[in-house]
Amino acid sequence: MSIYEELGIRPFVNASEPYTRNGGSVVADEVVKAMEEASRSFVNMEELIAKASDRAAQLTGNEGAFITSGAGAGVVLAAAACMCAANPAEKHTAGLLPHTDDLEKNEILIFRGKYLDMIEYWKLTAISGARIRIVDPSGKAMLDAVGEKTAAVFLFPAPMYEEGIPSCEEIIPALKRRGVRVVADAAAQLPPVSNLWYYTEKLGADLAVFSGGKHIGGPQATGLIVGKKELTEYCRQLACPNPRLGRVFKTGKEEIAGFLKALELFTGRDEKKEYSRQENMLRYVEEQLRGIPGISLHIQSEGRLGTEQPLLLVELPGDRTGEDCNRFTRAFEQPVDIGYFKKENGRPHTVFVNAYLLKAGEEKIVAAALKAYLGRSG
Ligand SMILES: *Cc1c(COP(=O)(O)O)cnc(C)c1O
Repeated sequence: MSIYEELGIRPFVNASEPYTRNGGSVVADEVVKAMEEASRSFVNMEELIAKASDRAAQLTGNEGAFITSGAGAGVVLAAAACMCAANPAEKHTAGLLPHTDDLEKNEILIFRGKYLDMIEYWKLTAISGARIRIVDPSGKAMLDAVGEKTAAVFLFPAPMYEEGIPSCEEIIPALKRRGVRVVADAAAQLPPVSNLWYYTEKLGADLAVFSGGKHIGGPQATGLIVGKKELTEYCRQLACPNPRLGRVFKTGKEEIAGFLKALELFTGRDEKKEYSRQENMLRYVEEQLRGIPGISLHIQSEGRLGTEQPLLLVELPGDRTGEDCNRFTRAFEQPVDIGYFKKENGRPHTVFVNAYLLKAGEEKIVAAALKAYLGRSG
C-alpha cells in the first residue's frame, strides 16, 4: 500500500502545470537515487553547499549560484543579499536582517502592474525586512524612483505579468545604466534552458530566481538563485547552517543532491526532442476531441507564461467554464488536473492541456476525461 493510499488520498494525472498545490513535479529515478545516496552519510554541510553552488553556477553558465528551498525563499534571500551589498559600510547587515531601520538602503522597488494581484510573490521580499515601494508602470517612473534608499528593483518576467509595464528586455539594461541592482523572479520561466542565464548574463540582471520543484524537476522544496558571485555569496552567509534569516529556508543534503541531479538532467536534455514528445501527446488529445460539437481546438507553440512548450487550448461550448471542467476531470474515475485560467486572466471558457508533466500513456487518460466532460449534457 502506498503512503497516499494509507492516507486515503487519490493521486491524479497532471495535465496543467507544476503548480505547488499539485505537488510540483515528479522527480526522475536518478534524482531519487541521488537523494537516497546523500541521505546515507554525514558530510560537512558548508563544504557541500559551496561545491554544489559552484556546480550549479557552472551548469547554468552563471558567475555564482545558490541552492535554496524554493523560488519563494529565493525571493527573500535575493532581497536580503541585495541589502547586504547595498549597505557595505554596515558590516553586520547579514546578521541584522530582518531589522532594517538603521540601514541606509532598505527599499525594494516594484512596478504597479496587473501581476500584483495575479501572483503575490512580490510580497515575500518584505520578509527580508525591506520596505516595498510600488512604482507607476513606466520606465521613466522607475528610473526616477531609484534613489538614496533603493537596495534593488524586483521584476517578474512573463508576457502575462508584463502587460502594461516595460518588459525585462527594456528595463533591465536601463536600470543597470542607472547603477541599481536588479533581480528577476523567473520561477516558472522555463524552458528554454537558456533562460537560466538569459536574465543575468544576457540582459544584465544581478540575480535571477528559479523554482527547483517546477520545470527543473527537482525535489519540491528546492529553488535556485543565480547571478553575481558577490550576491550569491551573501545568500550563502545568510543561509543555513548559519542561524540567520535564511535558516528558516533550510535545504538538507538530500534536497541539494537531488536538485543538482535534476539540474544536470534538465540542462543536458535534447530540448527539440522534449518539445516533440509533448507536441505528439497534444496532437493525440486533439485528434480524440476533434468533431465534438461547439468546441474549438488549437495547439499553440507557447506555454501559458510564454515559455517554449506546446499547449493545447480547448474553447468550451456554451457558457461552460474551465473551472467547471477542471472540477469534473478531477473527480473522474482516473482523476486529471486540466489547466484553466483564473478569473483575472479573462479566459473563463478556455481549458488548456499541458503535456510537460505527462508520462507515456497518460495522454489517453487526459483525452478520456475531457471526452467524458464534453460528452456530458448541460
Ligand atoms: C511558483 C513561483 C514562486 C514560488 O516558487 P516555489 O519554488 O514554489 O517557492 C515564486 N515566484 C513566481 C513568479 C512563481 O511562479
